[in-house]
Amino acid sequence: MLEVFFTPEQRRLKQEVQDFVKSIPRQLILDMDADKIKFPYEFVREAGKRGLLGLRFPPKYGGRGLGWVEELIAVGEVSKLGVPFACLYSMVSIVGEALNVFGTEEQKEKYLKPIIAGTKWAGEALTEPRGGSDFFGATTVARKRGSNYYLTGQKRFVVGAEGADFFLVFAVTNPGGGRDAISAFIVERDFGVEVRHVYGLMGCRGTGTGRLVFRETPVPEENLVGGEHQGAKVFYKLMVPERLVSGGIDGSRAILEIAARYADKRQAFGQTIRNFEGVSFKIADCITKLDAVDALAYAVARTIDENVGTPGYQRRLVSEVKKLATQVQWEVVNDAMQVLGGIGYTNVYPVERALREARLAMIWTGTNEIMNLIIQHEYYKEILAKGVEGRDIEADVALSEDQLAEERVYQPEPIEP
Ligand SMILES: Cc1cc2nc3c(=O)[nH]c(=O)nc-3n(C[C@H](O)[C@H](O)[C@H](O)COP(=O)(O)OP(=O)(O)OC[C@H]3O[C@@H](n4cnc5c(N)ncnc54)[C@H](O)[C@@H]3O)c2cc1C
Repeated sequence: MLEVFFTPEQRRLKQEVQDFVKSIPRQLILDMDADKIKFPYEFVREAGKRGLLGLRFPPKYGGRGLGWVEELIAVGEVSKLGVPFACLYSMVSIVGEALNVFGTEEQKEKYLKPIIAGTKWAGEALTEPRGGSDFFGATTVARKRGSNYYLTGQKRFVVGAEGADFFLVFAVTNPGGGRDAISAFIVERDFGVEVRHVYGLMGCRGTGTGRLVFRETPVPEENLVGGEHQGAKVFYKLMVPERLVSGGIDGSRAILEIAARYADKRQAFGQTIRNFEGVSFKIADCITKLDAVDALAYAVARTIDENVGTPGYQRRLVSEVKKLATQVQWEVVNDAMQVLGGIGYTNVYPVERALREARLAMIWTGTNEIMNLIIQHEYYKEILAKGVEGRDIEADVALSEDQLAEERVYQPEPIEP
């Protein structure tokens, strides 16, 4: 994060997270990438033991009552281990948000506390084989009989399908109810969740990402989160942590540093390659973009912490962070590989692993096309509702009102039949 943003306490937190990140064995990273590990329990346990999970949540549940800025600092440092670690670290923040905001006291005791402590693990199940972008088109159903709901359907690409103790699952309780059709449930693995397929991934391996199958899986009514048919509210709230964590980009900064150090040493045509504009201007563009992401992410974190603006405005900004941060992450890692030349494409440097991992970030937690959908929708809504603020520069032209009316928005005469 940019220096100007840090308070002394935040700097201490950064140091604390750096110590934790340094303690993670290199072999764990390598084994996860080699698909030798199904789920890195030791990473989660250690983070919990150090009190580093769920930083934003109240101390009574094991959190530190901190804000979004602190969470970005922490997730940024964790992202130096790689995207799968940042994902697992953030999962507490994501599922925890649903429990903290909408959960009952019993749910917080039973599910929120242990995930913050790192003694239990949670997954979130939104995406279905039918599709992920169209969340409200969900086909997993939950039918109530007696004091249980019975879930039937499938969820795809669930991180922790192997490894998680319970899942936050969204299912239709009110078919045809539009935005009021869906409810959120905590479904424990032991309720009868079947893991059908574990995916072979291009990167981000070792997090047990699989497909879940529910067949009349009984879920007690007390595991409903946020009330019946209230899943949309939970979903919208979750999208803040889901997408804002993308703003923790220190992993990409670390990759760029590898490239810059390499450019400072590598020789070609009798000089170090950093002397070539083709190399060093890439480095300049990359660091500029990373700093821009930091500034935006920080501003948006403050916006959420201080609850500035309408939910739509906040949704737009969070989507902008997700889109820009993941796009920049991809570009930076790709340029870093180019600076390293052939050796960047090998496992001599961690850049090829970072590239494989960075590609996913533009797809998950809502694709960047879906981010654009949200950004433009909220932006039109904002500007059309508020009218022109300050000087109306559209009027600063030499044409008369009549000429303008005719020229600006052309209205064709109706054609007589
Ligand atoms: C490794 C991995 C881990 C994941 N982890 C989880 C998890 O833990 N939990 C979970 O619930 N999900 C998870 N996901 C799912 C992820 O969020 C979805 O893959 C993503 O939301 C896209 O859904 P989809 O793959 O079904 O693509 P689709 O929704 O089928 O979209 C396909 C393409 O169409 C485009 N598209 C769709 N609709 C529009 C539109 N209206 N306008 C413009 N373009 C559009 C998309 O942008 C995309 O390019 C994970 C995915 C992966 C690969």
